[in-house]
Amino acid sequence: MKQNLFIDGQWQAPVRGGTFDVVDPATELVIHQAPAGTTEDIEKAVKAARHAFDTGPWPRMSGRERASYLRAISQIILARKQELGRLEVLDNGKPLPEAVWDMEDAAGCFAYYAGLAEEMDAKPEETVPLSDARFSSKVVREPIGVAGAIIPWNYPLLMASWKVAPALAAGCTMVLKPSELTPLTALELAGIAEEVGLPAGVLNVVTGMGPDAGKPLSEHPQIDKLAFTGSVPTGSRIMAAAARDIKNVSLELGGKSPFVVFADSDIEKAVEWIMFGIFWNQGQVCSATSRVLVEESFYPALLERLVGETAKIRIGNGLVDGTLLGPLVSKGQYDKVLAMIERARSEGATIAYGGKRPVGMETGFFLEPTILTDMAEDSFIWREEIFAPVVCIKPFKNEDDAIRMANDSRFGLAAAVMSKDRKRCERVARAFRAGIVWINCSQPTFTEAPWGGYKQSGIGRELGIWGLNNYLEVKQITSFDSEDAWGWYLKPDDRP
Ligand code: NAD
Repeated sequence: MKQNLFIDGQWQAPVRGGTFDVVDPATELVIHQAPAGTTEDIEKAVKAARHAFDTGPWPRMSGRERASYLRAISQIILARKQELGRLEVLDNGKPLPEAVWDMEDAAGCFAYYAGLAEEMDAKPEETVPLSDARFSSKVVREPIGVAGAIIPWNYPLLMASWKVAPALAAGCTMVLKPSELTPLTALELAGIAEEVGLPAGVLNVVTGMGPDAGKPLSEHPQIDKLAFTGSVPTGSRIMAAAARDIKNVSLELGGKSPFVVFADSDIEKAVEWIMFGIFWNQGQVCSATSRVLVEESFYPALLERLVGETAKIRIGNGLVDGTLLGPLVSKGQYDKVLAMIERARSEGATIAYGGKRPVGMETGFFLEPTILTDMAEDSFIWREEIFAPVVCIKPFKNEDDAIRMANDSRFGLAAAVMSKDRKRCERVARAFRAGIVWINCSQPTFTEAPWGGYKQSGIGRELGIWGLNNYLEVKQITSFDSEDAWGWYLKPDDRP
């Protein structure tokens, strides 16, 4: 585990010398003292990134050359996926197979953006047809500059990859600030960048607290682009900070995503996808389908089967074989979620399953997978993000009713629909006010496809070509090609 920050290609102790505890959520043991970066370290990191962008080779080399570094990073992540996965489990709590899957996805993300960097060489400019034949115009795409990335704790290395890979592919340099709850794999990524010989200053990693390291990064005048993933309140602060210097900003925020299940669905498939949609990663997934809407006639049978299957989920330390549900990430998050469940109960919700610490598991931030019913549509638990393995389930009368209930939210990240009627699925998919829609499934995520939300779930899209565009400026170059004089002032009679 790394002891220092990675700034300007070197491992540097934080200027103020501070550290913070890294806690294993399954054992509650402190497993590491991570370096606590502050304003001074952010200052050094931004300066290094600025210098690397303004004068260094990175933005000036071909896409093919940049791709070779990204591919090398991808290969190392893949080769070390078990070890990095274990580190992620110690940091975040998720079951090891999920963590290893994240490592494969992170490696895939670097390989994918290596491909897009190469494609930029193949298509260095684009002609823009104009309405006036005396002119010609083309568009070139250039890296936006120095990017600041601030990320959450639910997919530590994967969320870093979603930002670092496209930014580097585009030719940007970056300062990355991981979550203080899960700093370990971001520092490993810095080590991998060092190992592949990434030029100094191209990727800088500063771990630390949000107010101490994240805030000065978001406010720094030398940052051209801010890419943030996290909660709505922090996203709002980041946007306000970006406003002062008119920084380009992209935000991936929270959600309370609906899953509409019609009565003609196969019960086994419905139960499986509902469970995957809310229990995967302990429900600590921005796109988790945490509001399940079930057609009235199907509701009793589905609820009974869902409760029965949920009771079989094996809860435990993510490093133990067969564990399907690990602990929540931290004590703070654990206490918050228990308080939310208590509030739901006091406001009239029924706990159909779970809602408490599993019997016999006194240590670790473990929570039973939880199914809530009978909550009011205007209740807190139905409307606010819980970010835990807690699902709210409600019956609906008909398609219109389901769409209205699904869209009645300040969030719009994801939505899912299940039915054997394909036309109905397509209709409902179009009616959802959400950036990501799944038909007959919930959660599958592909590096090639756009990711991001409507409404308060964010601004902009990550992944795919949209992810690369986040880090590119668009420049038009227009030329006057005519032999004739323009003549506005000198030959007024020739005015166009
Ligand atoms: P958070 O907003 O508390 O923290 C996110 C990051 O912001 C952390 O690195 C934190 O240190 C930093 N931060 C905190 N205060 C800051 C400040 N004042 N200025 C700058 N940075 C600051 O979120 P979290 O609890 O880490 O993550 C959970 C949230 O993230 C959930 O709401 C979830 O839905 C969302 N999320 C969204 C996506 C998506 O793609 N839309 C993906 C994962 C998580």
